Amino acid sequence: MLPDYHLHTSRCGHATGETGEYLVSAAAAGMTEVGFADHIYMYWLPVERRDPSLAMREEELPLYFRQIKEIKFSCPGLSVKCGLEVDFVPGSEKELAGVLTSYPFDYIIGSVHYIDGWGFDNPSLIDGYRSMDVAEIYRRYFDLLGQAAKSGLFDIMAHPDLVKKFGFRPEEDLLPLYRETIKTFSLAGVCVEVNTAGLRAPVGEIYPDLIFLQLCKEYGIPVTTGSDAHRPDQVGAGFPEAKTLLKIAGYNEVAVFENRNISFIKI
Ligand code: ZN
Ligand code: FE
Ligand code: FE
Ligand code: ZN
Repeated sequence: MLPDYHLHTSRCGHATGETGEYLVSAAAAGMTEVGFADHIYMYWLPVERRDPSLAMREEELPLYFRQIKEIKFSCPGLSVKCGLEVDFVPGSEKELAGVLTSYPFDYIIGSVHYIDGWGFDNPSLIDGYRSMDVAEIYRRYFDLLGQAAKSGLFDIMAHPDLVKKFGFRPEEDLLPLYRETIKTFSLAGVCVEVNTAGLRAPVGEIYPDLIFLQLCKEYGIPVTTGSDAHRPDQVGAGFPEAKTLLKIAGYNEVAVFENRNISFIKI
């Protein structure tokens, strides 16, 4: 069974279910390894501008970390890791570095959810795709993703082609953009996340697409897997499809993390 390294909980304000409920669901699905990756608080904004429906509150972070460290001992047969999903916002790297070294997380997932402050994956802000050139949006997105990898702050790059979420696609060939991004990933030594949330989004396909993933394989980039569950019943959702995609791309192993050290398991 593939590990599910991308679980959210009610702490972030837009997921339902508590930590224990996700673990019950994982055990029932026969999983052997899971990891939480709740949304870090909006560290790049002043406290009064942070949206409690988008991410945990700052004071929640120590509780989150402690709760997972404690609960993992009550789950025999299930390896439970503590990670974090972290927004990359250029200019805030220094502040972020301080936060991330405060706790011994197992892994840090880096995400790009904002282009110049526009939350492009937020359904209520979808008009942005109509008021801007889609090709330019894609260029900006992948540039930010490359910058995020280069920052050295992250182990894993989340849902690498999230910008396709609502099905807006540029006419131009994406291959050069993919190649440039993946070269940057390779130099930075990051993993790529195969994220099944795309199956539940309007686009209806896994992040990243097969071409992106095949190119990752060509460059020797390790992969992790995640459902991006925002409800306990979504743990491991779409994993048969993820496994098929990985096999087609030539992957026979996935990465697992402990204390930010990587190792591999066969799939
Ligand atoms: Zn979320
Ligand atoms: Fe995300
Ligand atoms: Fe997520
Ligand atoms: Zn996510």
